[in-house]
Amino acid sequence: MQAHSIADGQTRVGGMMNGWDRKFIEMAVLVSSWSKDPSTKVGCVIADSDHAQLSEGFNGFPRGIADDARLHEREVKYRLIVHAEANAIAAAARNGHGLKGATAYVTFCPCPQCAALLIQAGIVRVVTIAGATPAHWMKECEIAQAMLKEAGVEYEEAQRTS
Ligand SMILES: [Zn+2]
Repeated sequence: MQAHSIADGQTRVGGMMNGWDRKFIEMAVLVSSWSKDPSTKVGCVIADSDHAQLSEGFNGFPRGIADDARLHEREVKYRLIVHAEANAIAAAARNGHGLKGATAYVTFCPCPQCAALLIQAGIVRVVTIAGATPAHWMKECEIAQAMLKEAGVEYEEAQRTS
């Protein structure tokens, strides 16, 4: 799938990340490793326009909900788990950081529900890793990308390594 830079309407295929994008994507990859989900680990880091990290999140159960056998029961897990982007937004709320004008770095393309939350939180740019999103998520990813585009949020997939 091709990458898009929606702000200028140009298609960017395999554009390299700048230094800050690389730093925050690498941080998001690190944060994803903290997930206890046995099947998929996603990380999200949100940074402001001055490149200050405002919050981070990974996919997991809410605070106080034990990481027990429910992590291995798909039906239950999907009802309880909080996605990385939603967790990062919630962490910002918990810690009193406004996200208006901020950039979200996510290890996979957001789902439509998270795209909606990112839009509503005031995120203006979403950066993911080219080629990282699993094939079975692409339909959801395309819906999310269309939402972000319609809402005027820049979406970029960039190469992780130069
Ligand atoms: Zn999501």
